Amino acid sequence: MGIKVCKFGGSSVADVIQLKKTKEIVLADASRRFVVVSAPGKRFDGDTKITDLLYLCKTHAEHGLPWDQLFDVVVDRFVAVSHKLGLDDTLDEHFDKIRKNLETGCSSDYIASRGEYLNGVLIAALLGFDFVDPQEYILFGKRGELLIEETDKALSQELEKHENAVIPGFYGSDIKTGQVVTFSRGGSDVTGALVARAVGADVYENWTDVSGFLMADPRIVENPKPIRSISYKELRELSYMGASVLHDEAIYPARVADIPINIRNTNRPDDEGTYITAHHDPNSEEIVTGIAGSKDFTVIAIYKSLMSTGKGFVRKVLSILEDYDINFEHLPSGIDTLSVVVSNEYISENLDKVICAIKQQLSPDSIDVYKDIALIATVGQGMTRERGVSAKLFTALAEADVNVRMIDQGSSEMNIIVGVENADFERAIRAIYQAFSNASKE
Ligand code: ASP
Repeated sequence: MGIKVCKFGGSSVADVIQLKKTKEIVLADASRRFVVVSAPGKRFDGDTKITDLLYLCKTHAEHGLPWDQLFDVVVDRFVAVSHKLGLDDTLDEHFDKIRKNLETGCSSDYIASRGEYLNGVLIAALLGFDFVDPQEYILFGKRGELLIEETDKALSQELEKHENAVIPGFYGSDIKTGQVVTFSRGGSDVTGALVARAVGADVYENWTDVSGFLMADPRIVENPKPIRSISYKELRELSYMGASVLHDEAIYPARVADIPINIRNTNRPDDEGTYITAHHDPNSEEIVTGIAGSKDFTVIAIYKSLMSTGKGFVRKVLSILEDYDINFEHLPSGIDTLSVVVSNEYISENLDKVICAIKQQLSPDSIDVYKDIALIATVGQGMTRERGVSAKLFTALAEADVNVRMIDQGSSEMNIIVGVENADFERAIRAIYQAFSNASKE
């Protein structure tokens, strides 16, 4: 029998109803041996996550303001849940200890991590699994960086000793001092991936409140199709272009160990969800896996006759951007033209200085700036070597009356990126979706 590692996000463990679903899911399959949990998340719109309340306690304590009532809110939430689950008193000694540590001045990472810690203790009792505190096994260096190999070694040695275990997400400790260190927000995804790698899992199930990824943003496209399977590379392209997916660092440990990630819905456990795998599924009929994009880019279009015969032009332009610490997204070029696409977020305050430096150092014949450009990536390894994909895409855009301002296709043929005006963004996404949502390979 294989091993499944399940990570349950904040909404899956937010209250008693959700915890019961979680329990049912875990106990329904004996291979679900290791469970990683987030702190209780929001139960309804406008509710506060336990992690946010804990950060707030710390801010109050730092400013000499009373924090005990805030901490009582946290305690009350856990007490009510423990009571309804018939697990009264399970957490009492832990509350006392946390309260004492708050009084004596604990770190912000320590207090933030206690939501996961308390939930881990509670859920271990609920499932009858061992509780493993990641503080000793998930290790960080002195700059707060995750020590991935050291962690893998320590975690696998420990987890080998357990048939079943619950491990709180989101934190570990500094390898030297042993003090708690947290990941960035949403970091329980990373813990799940580390545990999956450490136990050599066959699959890393990431349980959340959606049945996997959708082919396009549902705020733009009505009822988009779910993505059944996506490769790590495709996912990277889509998330880079703004699709909100997993914590980036969460992909890495699963990817190096070639462990598929399965995004599942705690509220609809029969849905298959999305599989994220190392390789594109060769049996997939889909040409396009997903469409994502974002608004607010600037294109700087530089024209200089005989640019292509000179040397070092591109390097000089890029070094000007580097001087201003600006990342560029794309660099489409022609014989005597070079366009640099940058995010408004990075360039806005330095745009004039960058233009000035380009003029001074490179004496172009002309330089034009187009603001308010949106980029849209149409991603799919199924596009590779498939004929007619770009024809279909550009026909769809033309028929939707979208003016294409820029085109870029990587040589991997895995994505086609188009630049359109911000105002055309939604219309363009809908047009591309319509063109490909029902298209399959010839
Ligand atoms: N509880 C943490 C947060 O709210 C970590 C997590 O849920 O993944 O960011």
